[in-house]
Amino acid sequence: MSEIIKIIRTKREDRTNKDLWLVWNKLLDAPFISIRKSSKVVNDILDRLLFTSKSRIMSYEFCQTTFKYSYIFGINPPQQEFYRKIGGNLHYVMEILYNYVNVDDIIKLRNIKNYIYNLIYSLIPEKFSDRIFNYIDVMVKNIALFEDSKVQRIRTTGGLTKENLERYYYPIKEERELGIENYITYECGKVDATYNIYNEDTGKDSILVVDYKFGVPKYMDTYIYAERSIRKEVCFYKRLMKEAGSMYIDKDGNMQLFQRREADYGMIIYFQDLRTAKAFKMEPGDYYDLSITINKYWDSIENNSFNQIHGAQEWCMDRCPYFWKYCYPYENKWKILRSMGNIFSEQET
Ligand code: SF4
Repeated sequence: MSEIIKIIRTKREDRTNKDLWLVWNKLLDAPFISIRKSSKVVNDILDRLLFTSKSRIMSYEFCQTTFKYSYIFGINPPQQEFYRKIGGNLHYVMEILYNYVNVDDIIKLRNIKNYIYNLIYSLIPEKFSDRIFNYIDVMVKNIALFEDSKVQRIRTTGGLTKENLERYYYPIKEERELGIENYITYECGKVDATYNIYNEDTGKDSILVVDYKFGVPKYMDTYIYAERSIRKEVCFYKRLMKEAGSMYIDKDGNMQLFQRREADYGMIIYFQDLRTAKAFKMEPGDYYDLSITINKYWDSIENNSFNQIHGAQEWCMDRCPYFWKYCYPYENKWKILRSMGNIFSEQET
């Protein structure tokens, strides 16, 4: 095993000063970022790197430099706080929502939109300012719409019976918000929900793995969030579920054995825009693609080789929180100027 990865996977208390020094010299090399030179700080960074996760892989895939700032140096752009607050609240609600939705109510109310909408507001833990409320309200309405459309699908595919609702409307009970830590592949993640869905083609049930998103759909930016990337995200969960056959941590923090057959479909729902909600059947090539990315990811950490974004430098300037403070002054200046035909003044260069 390579040097840095071996140190990452060594228990904190067994890492030597020589190990930490090596990491410091090899990986934490940015003179413009101030990191306190202490064994605690380096150990914390190494612990942070123990697992890959879907978010890390997607951040790495999007721009390796972003990944480095965010996950290695631990610099969180302030703008993300807004989304984190919203995401945290709504993820929490989705975790507990189904404990409050009653089958008899669904059957009684032909349209459950208002019912779900009010229920969500009664469960959100925080009160928000107008600015956040306006942003959140779109998503709450869309969640209600989505829940309603699930019910309508059950109505048209098998009939709105108590049995069908229990089977297809609710997430599969034991796998709601499933946290997985795999010490064999060093991958971790939290699956938001898994559902049974009736597959008309086969006449059998399939498993659907769902990831909820409460941020801005990436495809709305100038950076096109290709379907391929979405599939890759879902692939990560499916790979995690399949390969994490050995162990997972349950909600009470206990290690459990976990064996589940591979899910057939995956879905990522951006609640800002439900048009993105589409179930994908995974192609074998998706897993291959993901494995290549994961190998590259570890290779970058080992060799401290992090490349910058996909050539779209104008995107960086407008949208990336790291651009003005880090990338432009220290890392990327000349490359950016060349790619933009030198829109900055001579003095700035
Ligand atoms: S400014 Fe561009 S290259 Fe730099 S971290 Fe952000 S996205 Fe990556």
